[in-house]
Amino acid sequence: MVGITSYGAYIPRLRLDRMAIFQHMGWFAPAIVMVAQGERSMCNWDEDALTMAVAAARDCLVGQNKSTLDGLYLASTTFPFADRQNAGIAATALNLTSSILAADFTASQKAGTNALLAALESVKSGDRRNILVTAADKRETKPGYFYEMWFGDGAAAMLVGGEDVIAEYKGSHSVSYDFVPHYRGSEKQYDYMWEERWTRDEGYAKIIPEAVNGLLDKLELTIADVDRLVYPCFFKAEHKNIARKLGADPEKVMGNMHEECGETGVAHPLLMLARALEEARPGDRIVVAGFGQGCSALYFVVTEAIEKLAPRSGVSGSLANKETTDNYAKWLKFRELIDPEMGIRAEAPTQTAMTTLWRKRDMILGLVGGKCRECRTPQFPKMDICVNPNCGAHHSQDDYEFADVPAKVKTFTGDLLAVSVDPPHKYGMIQFAGGGRMMADFTDCAFDDLKVGLPMQMVFRKRVADKERGFVNYFWKAVPVPGAAAEMDKIRYDGRVAVITGAGAGLGRAYALELGARGAQVVVNDLGGARDGSGAGSAAPADEVVREIEALGGRAVANYVNVSTVAGGESIIKFALDSFGRVDIVINNAGILRDKSFVKMEPENWRAVMDVHLDGAYNVTRPAFAAMKENGFGRIVMTTSAAGLYGNFGQTNYSAAKMALVGLMNTLKLEGKKYNIKVNTIAPLAASRLTEDIMPPDIFDKAKPEFVVPMVAYLCSDECTESGAIFNAGMGYFNRAAILTGAGARIGDTENPPTVEDIEANWNAINAIVGTKELADVNAAFMDLITPAPEEPAAKEATPTAAGPDIQAIFDNLARTFKTDAAAGVNVVFQFEIPGKGGGEWNCIITRIRPAPSPKEPMKNQPAPLKWRIPTLQT
Ligand code: NAD
Repeated sequence: MVGITSYGAYIPRLRLDRMAIFQHMGWFAPAIVMVAQGERSMCNWDEDALTMAVAAARDCLVGQNKSTLDGLYLASTTFPFADRQNAGIAATALNLTSSILAADFTASQKAGTNALLAALESVKSGDRRNILVTAADKRETKPGYFYEMWFGDGAAAMLVGGEDVIAEYKGSHSVSYDFVPHYRGSEKQYDYMWEERWTRDEGYAKIIPEAVNGLLDKLELTIADVDRLVYPCFFKAEHKNIARKLGADPEKVMGNMHEECGETGVAHPLLMLARALEEARPGDRIVVAGFGQGCSALYFVVTEAIEKLAPRSGVSGSLANKETTDNYAKWLKFRELIDPEMGIRAEAPTQTAMTTLWRKRDMILGLVGGKCRECRTPQFPKMDICVNPNCGAHHSQDDYEFADVPAKVKTFTGDLLAVSVDPPHKYGMIQFAGGGRMMADFTDCAFDDLKVGLPMQMVFRKRVADKERGFVNYFWKAVPVPGAAAEMDKIRYDGRVAVITGAGAGLGRAYALELGARGAQVVVNDLGGARDGSGAGSAAPADEVVREIEALGGRAVANYVNVSTVAGGESIIKFALDSFGRVDIVINNAGILRDKSFVKMEPENWRAVMDVHLDGAYNVTRPAFAAMKENGFGRIVMTTSAAGLYGNFGQTNYSAAKMALVGLMNTLKLEGKKYNIKVNTIAPLAASRLTEDIMPPDIFDKAKPEFVVPMVAYLCSDECTESGAIFNAGMGYFNRAAILTGAGARIGDTENPPTVEDIEANWNAINAIVGTKELADVNAAFMDLITPAPEEPAAKEATPTAAGPDIQAIFDNLARTFKTDAAAGVNVVFQFEIPGKGGGEWNCIITRIRPAPSPKEPMKNQPAPLKWRIPTLQT
């Protein structure tokens, strides 16, 4: 069986918003708005057809054995060299053996499909075993032109062979005409285009159907034997009409990718074929046709082997990895359609010595360094002496390819003085995994994207162009691995061990999956009992969650112990320590319900709920807390409930247990403070078996546990500095609940306790939730209670109004509360940012502060008590 054995794609990361073309050129060419949808792909300044072809070829070679290749066919109409074999440069960049046939295919838009056809026929004849076909184009057009909108830059690659065929080649049919919808004279930069209507009606609409029908006749098939029709045509409506002419359902036509990247010249039929293969299932029958001075049509049947193909970026990965720009001037500069001053540094000589390039071709074009045979240390460049100071072996280096080795940024800089088409010039040291470093240029990134440790990958790019001699220099540069920067910024739990009780279902399961996916090692505890805690329990829920975490690439162990006994709690933590060696995170989540109105609340139902919720948290947290103290790190989450915080009919047992957990947190936050143990409480709202008969169905459907997860995960993270707080979370809403103390009132005096009547008389002042404070602990609460309320009637409360706070009152309060004794001998500056009318930035500078005079030794020249008048203050 002969056919395609692998495929690859490359679309440059930059995309130009087509509206930006219209916005800049629409005044001159208003009609271009008709095709100004979506974006077109756009080469970076250091990309051309050759670099894109190499990128697509590398994507195609993922998981393939390059040493079995005996041909490389490269197709383009925009080769950088008219007489230097471009396929030869690509073969060196890909480090292919020299015993291959390298050939360029060019001069027609169907050069890509013709190269594929030639490769298939060559392998079919038994002449060659495996041929890599790669096609790329970077076509230039004048600004403000339809074709500037229609065209895109890109590349695709197909590996052709006789083993592990993913799409079997069944046959082809070609028609050739000297039909000239456009041409490019050999010395010209731009195509000369003939009228579009004629191109459409006489070209696409007639020649593609002729080739496809010829193919079907030859293979004795009908259009019903085709599942996917792949052919380029940048006229949107005609693209579908051609299918109709062929009698095919328009749904079978592969989209022309106008809105995603534009038409990529000779690469386009292969790029669309790569996309069709990406979506194909075994048995799918595909016809691909390349149009240009005739048409070549090929028929393939997808095989089972497609399901075993190694993952690759492909068309979807390339399309997803994008940066869209509306900077049309940048587009013009990158295409050399404008020529801004580059400074005299840009005039430095750029001539390449062909002798050196030949001698060092593997290093320069192939990024080949060395690896020491003695100590296995890789190094770049390859040298006579091993770089390892403990080895230092001579002439011990074997060739070692660095192009596919993962790397990370070790140092970086953005140089505004160096010559750069896209300043600042970004470069730095990269460290390869397993050893080897090099100074590399960074491309396809902004300076702000770079950071030490950022994962990078190597790409083959233009380094400098010697315009005087028409030579392009290529070398390897580093680009950030797509998505790696975002991954680095992610909150992770690598190395942390989390114990989650009741993690076999509902909220606990969702917490476990999130922490597991983000690197935590998870103990999935769940008894697997009934909703009310009855029943013998089951291992199945915890086991299933462990399987789910492992499927996400995480590590987890299942534990089926009941949290409601002291021994159970101890055994859970021992299990965690035995399994993973430490405990960093505990989420006390296990829960049951036994609802009854209070009089019917028998002791066993009261007790059962207390046992799981309150005692369960005590039993598990106590041994965990001891382990956390040892490590100097801990994150504990208690689970309360709105029923406890605010009350709920029929849940006295549950409300009492849930509120008791807040009390447990309040003290534990104090005991854990010294050891970086943060203790917080979540009051979740989520659909689960506990809430299925409580929540209204429409809310139940929306209240997924995943909406609570981020808050709990944050409270468990190293990044969380909060301790002792309660958070409500559900359906994407989050707020903090707190126990607040009002300003209250002092009634009576130290000698005379107030009477019951005094309480009644002062009820409003005592009961008012005004001037509230959140108190840190029992001492703060005691001090607050016995600190006399302000007596000066003149001291107005600095209460905010719609117009903003009362500024005078703010400073009056400061005068009253400022402790001159504490500040004696120093100068004090208060800075205020006050919103509202009369607000702004205020600086109060207090100097010459002396201790208050003792009653026995009155001080002379004592400054007057602090008093503020707003106009005298500095603003
Ligand atoms: P759920 O029933 O889906 O999950 C609770 C899990 O705890 C179950 O898998 C159960 O097997 C397990 N469990 C029960 N007793 C256990 C024990 N003794 N030992 C070990 N595991 C035990 O319920 P859920 O809604 O996910 O509840 C999780 C927590 O959130 C509970 O503490 C609950 O009180 C609390 N809560 C939930 C909501 C909500 O809206 N779902 C609201 C407020 C509070």
